Amino acid sequence: MSHSVGVMYLGRLAELAPTRVLFDAPKHPYTQLLLAALPRLDRRGREKPPAPGEIPSPLDPPPGCGFHPRCPHGQARCQSERPALVPLPDGSQVACHAVQERRIPMRWHPS
Ligand code: SF4
Repeated sequence: MSHSVGVMYLGRLAELAPTRVLFDAPKHPYTQLLLAALPRLDRRGREKPPAPGEIPSPLDPPPGCGFHPRCPHGQARCQSERPALVPLPDGSQVACHAVQERRIPMRWHPS
């Protein structure tokens, strides 16, 4: 239905990608969290661990990356510096320091 998908967190784009790229290889930790929450028939009866942390108020978003209170990949930089939306070779754009620093393993990373 759509050629591209944008994922927003607290009113900001976290990831924008061609639809197939986003669902096949989600990069932003929030996108990964959302897709991990999708119901799956092969996991029926198994409990899913809740997403960590609390959702911050959009009226008083945290400094830096708005996702840092809940992010498993967050570091000190994330608490003070808002990541820019950066284009990647597969056509996606991601706002995440860990992705840009290649701290999250990705299929698209050139060797
Ligand atoms: S910028 Fe930092 S806190 Fe934000 S999503 Fe990326 S790793 Fe997590």
